[in-house]
Amino acid sequence: MSSHSYGTECPNCQKEMNSCQENRPIDYITSECIYCGFYVVARSGFMSLEDLNESRNNFDEKPLKELPKQDKSLFDYVPELKE
Ligand SMILES: [Zn+2]
Repeated sequence: MSSHSYGTECPNCQKEMNSCQENRPIDYITSECIYCGFYVVARSGFMSLEDLNESRNNFDEKPLKELPKQDKSLFDYVPELKE
């Protein structure tokens, strides 16, 4: 796991907020502002077969009959979005 931190402008208070880009094994960016408390977090998840086929349809891919392997240990890196 490697990460890179840098400053960006907070959209709420316009002061400098800290952003952190992670890029292994998953690419995502989180941010937090120590001045006003604004933050951005990442969540991950796997689509259901129905949702996946709907997305594939948008890219002209044929629907799948069953879900491919879904490695739930990825949630150790980016927490699962629970509905
Ligand atoms: Zn702020």
